[in-house]
Amino acid sequence: MDAKIYVVGAGIIGICCAIALQRDGHKVVLIDKIGPGAGASFGNAGAIVNGSCVPTATPGIIGSALKMLKPGGPLSISPTYLPQLLPWLIRFSWQSREQNYQRNALHLVALTKHATNSWQKLLTNTESVDMFKAVGWLRLFETSQAFNANASSRQLMTEHGTPYQTLNFDEIYDLEPNLARIFQHGFYQQDCHFISNPERMLQSLTEHFVANGGEFKVAEVTNIKVQEQQAIIETTDEVIYPGTLVVTAGAWSTKLTKGINYSAPLETERGYHMMLPVTKAISRPIVHAEQGFVLSPMETGLRVTSQVELAAVDAPAKYRKIRALLPKVKRMLPDAEMTEQSCWMGCRPSLPDSLPIISQSAHKNIFYAFGHQHLGMTLGPMTGELIADLVAARKSKIDLTPYRADRF
Ligand SMILES: Cc1cc2nc3c(=O)[nH]c(=O)nc-3n(C[C@H](O)[C@H](O)[C@H](O)COP(=O)(O)OP(=O)(O)OC[C@H]3O[C@@H](n4cnc5c(N)ncnc54)[C@H](O)[C@@H]3O)c2cc1C
Repeated sequence: MDAKIYVVGAGIIGICCAIALQRDGHKVVLIDKIGPGAGASFGNAGAIVNGSCVPTATPGIIGSALKMLKPGGPLSISPTYLPQLLPWLIRFSWQSREQNYQRNALHLVALTKHATNSWQKLLTNTESVDMFKAVGWLRLFETSQAFNANASSRQLMTEHGTPYQTLNFDEIYDLEPNLARIFQHGFYQQDCHFISNPERMLQSLTEHFVANGGEFKVAEVTNIKVQEQQAIIETTDEVIYPGTLVVTAGAWSTKLTKGINYSAPLETERGYHMMLPVTKAISRPIVHAEQGFVLSPMETGLRVTSQVELAAVDAPAKYRKIRALLPKVKRMLPDAEMTEQSCWMGCRPSLPDSLPIISQSAHKNIFYAFGHQHLGMTLGPMTGELIADLVAARKSKIDLTPYRADRF
């Protein structure tokens, strides 16, 4: 048996788990089939939404989803994938009932309220700290109708103690003077942070992990199994008998856990980005609430992120809808250059209750950390801390029962 801890999947969750375990004194090997940050962690909007408490499954979501499905809207469902997706959609719809929504909000905020602190702790003594910007998270509304429709989310935030301010017209343009004068209402979470280059952040954290004695391997894990209580990892190169195994393969995680007879209702909410030339026109990530897209001023260019596409994890990307947003972005930032630099698609790993699995498995030495949906960047460092606690059989700062793998 190899006494090291093997972490499978080097997205933000895997890297944060690997570093937290290393800081606890373990020898750790991080494995990815492509490289650090090859999945959803590569191309997200970079927002660290401290205190985020609104689950995706909200009361009334089915009605809103039907509206979002209209041509050009931010939601799409692959018709050929629908039969496979249906059980997940039914569970998701059940989770949107008021009582479930309130409970999920409580368990979500229990994690997210530690996001900023956990990021600060993670970045201490690393070279990556320059990418962690204290610029807040801004949502803008063109109409009072859309702003009023958001009132229940604001009420939930108030109930959970998540700080925010509402902004009027003048206050919006004091913060972001280069935006077109089309917005009437704003909603600002000042204590949120922004990762100005998620790809470089993941590379730099991996370098930090390796410089401190960690091992990084590029290999595809083809199967995980257990024989006589020994975990076994089969890769394209070798068979490994790890002392401890942590599965952090994002939307691909349940493909791997099949080999140890564990399944969870994990689906992917695929999202897209389009890169435009670098601009200094905005200072923080900004959500256009009505149009359902986010503009993020990355150091590599202006990133437009949008969409929830419910389709198979390995289905080909369709860039038509993200490209169609260009005139809407132009309307918001008339002076910025609008030449497409690249497009990308990533798979958000999502469970019906909008909560991740952070848990020991039915096998003593196998742990799971996946299903972070729209908040994986926000929750990476906190998840790493909690997995280190579970491996050490140490009491965590929060109760981990709501995130257990056997809740489904
Ligand atoms: C458009 C978009 C915008 C987003 N914006 C934000 C945001 O602003 N803030 C926020 O908090 N979150 C955001 N998210 C969500 C966030 O990006 C994800 O929740 C997070 O990246 C998930 O991280 P992960 O490590 O679980 O998965 P991933 O980043 O997908 O990593 C999984 C890794 O596992 C590897 N892997 C898979 N199978 C195998 C195998 N068999 N063998 C070896 N390796 C394997 C993959 O190569 C990959 O590197 C956004 C997501 C999208 C798509």
